[in-house]
Amino acid sequence: MVKDLIILGAPGAGKGTLSADLCPLLKIKHISTGDLLREVVESGSALGQEIGGYIKTGALVPDEVIGRMIKEQLNTAECRNGVLLDGFPRTPPQAEMLENILADLQRRITAVFFLNIEQEQVVNRLIHRVSCRKCGKPYHLINLPPKKSGICDDCGGDLIQREDDREETIRKRFATFLEKTQPLIDFYDRKKLLLPINAGNNPQETLRIALADLEALLNNIK
Ligand code: AMP
Repeated sequence: MVKDLIILGAPGAGKGTLSADLCPLLKIKHISTGDLLREVVESGSALGQEIGGYIKTGALVPDEVIGRMIKEQLNTAECRNGVLLDGFPRTPPQAEMLENILADLQRRITAVFFLNIEQEQVVNRLIHRVSCRKCGKPYHLINLPPKKSGICDDCGGDLIQREDDREETIRKRFATFLEKTQPLIDFYDRKKLLLPINAGNNPQETLRIALADLEALLNNIK
């Protein structure tokens, strides 16, 4: 069965970590719009410069840019078995856009994970977050530091801090989440697709709960 999943949650809720754990197990592709956008910014193109301006301030990139990117991704062979969408949809119009893109492919959303977290916990997590430039592995400088300062334990790549992981921008991103993305929680709840998870758990426990909840939802659907 094709599984098209969404992961919702404020910045710093642990969407990237849960996605990295879930996707190999479910054999589906992880699509992070934030990662895709950062790649375009790094390319230095005119579009990249425009996108960089939105990301720096914690504002949302226009829907048409995101829609094009998602459509392109969903049409690739790697996404045939399903996807885990991380960072998209972020607004009700994007949710509608996604339904249309999936309907054209005769697919629909299977389930929506929601990682629930408080603002102060987000700030604490993100101001200490660094990740590997090469493989993307995340670290927390206090709770989960690398063995050697500035170097990834797994691949030896440089550890970098995201430009938007500064306190002022983190608070802006959290406010944007509450204003623009929170309505999606009710939207998917009404469709009986929502799987809420407490994001305060450790990654192993979060993975265990996510798998168990997904299985329960799929069994109810059958
Ligand atoms: P993230 O890595 O998901 O925290 O995203 C980082 C930044 O990329 C956000 O603060 C937005 O500026 C932009 N972004 C990511 N996904 C989207 C989206 N679906 N719609 C609009 N902007 C997005």
